[in-house]
Amino acid sequence: MEPVSTFSPADPTRALTLREREAIIAVLERGTNIRKLPITTADRSRWLSQVSHTLAGRSCECGICPSVELTDAQGHTPATANGRVVLQAEAPGAVLHLFIDEDRLSHLELAPLAGDSITVFPASTDITTDLSTW
Ligand SMILES: [Zn+2]
Repeated sequence: MEPVSTFSPADPTRALTLREREAIIAVLERGTNIRKLPITTADRSRWLSQVSHTLAGRSCECGICPSVELTDAQGHTPATANGRVVLQAEAPGAVLHLFIDEDRLSHLELAPLAGDSITVFPASTDITTDLSTW
């Protein structure tokens, strides 16, 4: 195994896949705040405006989920902040979480239910929120 270059401090980034981008947008548009605080239309539009220059960073290594860190155009992921916002949505067999730290998109997580392996984000049309439970 080649040693990792000491001159590459950041993990490599890549463009979001279509499914990642669709999932982020669906959760931003329809997701519910897990802390039950209100999310305003202005919050949603401000975060949606970041999507076009958001890149994918390090992927989860668990092997059964497609979760991925999100970075800005410079490859920086915001640090986990006290005011972190977590938006949640559901898809068949999975729960999606979008983390927002320092008012910036930081992590897109899909947690498969029942230990299933789901390695690709669901299509936007399969992403739902059951507002009645919140
Ligand atoms: Zn994982």
